[in-house]
Amino acid sequence: MKKLLTLAFLMSATFTISAQEKDPVIDNILKEAYENSQLETLGHELMDDIGPRLVGTPQMQKAHDWAVAKYKSWGISAENQQYGEWKAWERGITHIDMVHPRVQSLNGTQLAWNPGTSKKGVTAECIILPEVKDSISFQKWLPNAKGKFVMIAMKQSTGRPDYNWEEWATPESFEKMKNEREAQTKAWNENISRTGYNRRSIISALEDAGAAGIIDSYWSKGFGANKIFSARTKKIPTVDIQLEDYTMLYRMVEHGDKPKINIIAQSKDLGVAPAFNTIAEIKGTEKPDEYVILSAHFDSWDGGTGATDNGTGTLVMMEAMRILKKVYPNPKRTILAGHWGSEEQGLNGSSAFVADNPEIVKNMQAAFNQDNGTGRAVKINGAGFLHSYDYISRWLAAVPDTISKHIETTFPGWPSSGGSDNASFVAAGAPAFNLSSLSWSYWNYTWHTNLDTYDKIVFDDVQHNAILAAIMAYKASEDPEFTSREQINLPINKRTGEQQKWPTPRTPERKGGM
Ligand SMILES: [Zn+2]
Repeated sequence: MKKLLTLAFLMSATFTISAQEKDPVIDNILKEAYENSQLETLGHELMDDIGPRLVGTPQMQKAHDWAVAKYKSWGISAENQQYGEWKAWERGITHIDMVHPRVQSLNGTQLAWNPGTSKKGVTAECIILPEVKDSISFQKWLPNAKGKFVMIAMKQSTGRPDYNWEEWATPESFEKMKNEREAQTKAWNENISRTGYNRRSIISALEDAGAAGIIDSYWSKGFGANKIFSARTKKIPTVDIQLEDYTMLYRMVEHGDKPKINIIAQSKDLGVAPAFNTIAEIKGTEKPDEYVILSAHFDSWDGGTGATDNGTGTLVMMEAMRILKKVYPNPKRTILAGHWGSEEQGLNGSSAFVADNPEIVKNMQAAFNQDNGTGRAVKINGAGFLHSYDYISRWLAAVPDTISKHIETTFPGWPSSGGSDNASFVAAGAPAFNLSSLSWSYWNYTWHTNLDTYDKIVFDDVQHNAILAAIMAYKASEDPEFTSREQINLPINKRTGEQQKWPTPRTPERKGGM
């Protein structure tokens, strides 16, 4: 079945190409991509064997070394280029168990950079934040936090995502639920304000008051999905417990059951680690000092294994490089793959690369970045470069219709000021474009969540993107003309009455987390 499908695919792809113009390089890209795909192996090695890639962790280092070795095995030169350093930390075992009034293991995990507990962990009673009149009454309450696990998230009224309500609830009850939730959220936020703190600063107030630990629950509005970011405590553990278990504990506290839990959250503070970008290179023959860059950040948050953020973007660019080396080993221009570090903390790796390599940026023909999940690319935006239509459409015309028919282009588009690493190049005036993907429920289910794992990868779509990236890089490399970087005039901001400005380069964090 799989074979037949591939054959049908190839035949239609070949047909489209011959209808355009016959190009043996493109035929070979398609043949290599469909008949010798390495995507599943790469995905397994990166997500299952190496795991999440939080900046400063030994796993991040392992991933950098793996990528270099992988490129070398394909005959592509690659190296890890240090741009800074980061607090070094290693996640250990997390175990969260309710031990009173009954025993139940709970779904949850310690947050990144959490100060670890001993192997036996910490056992304490859970309490919830009080409803307070003002900051004075909160200060009066604060001593109650001593020796307790304090639950700092609002109790969600439902663990069912809205789309599920929409499907099954009566319209009246769906409306009622949303209205009640809105009122509850408003009241919750107002109560936090009355304490004199905000969602972040209240954590240090609780730690200073002697709390045993902090329990958060950052629901991502999907079944079983929570967002997992970093801990803000210095000495006591911070864990995120998934909605179903968190709300159970919360109800137990409200009903006076005095639930007790044991938190084991081991981790290691390893001092300081160097922070890298992995850069792979296929040297140009005719114009070696001009560059085409395939771009995808390499780091991830660590609640899951970073499969769709940005394991899939990484796979796309690695596979594209592998294919190009095999079927187009002597490109006209130099083709680089940039696997950036610490994108998640503010595009640090890519902005450091831009700052450290002005010659490359000045002579950059184009960069293609992918970083919004496993889906096939459906949008390319001209990023505010006035003539982007000319070259992007020219290159895209060489992509088989089976792939390009899904892609909607917008020209001249708008310069991205953040969000992903293309912004680092655009801010420096270099033409960098996002291969923007279909969502596949990215924002709720996988983006920075505990569910961002291998099983969510849609390999057919990733394969589309690898082919797209390879062909765009090939065409950008071969183009007789150097790309124009003339910028559009940005319109007046209606609110301020001033003309909007092109984004400016950000200063990378080169000494992070310390
Ligand atoms: Zn990302």
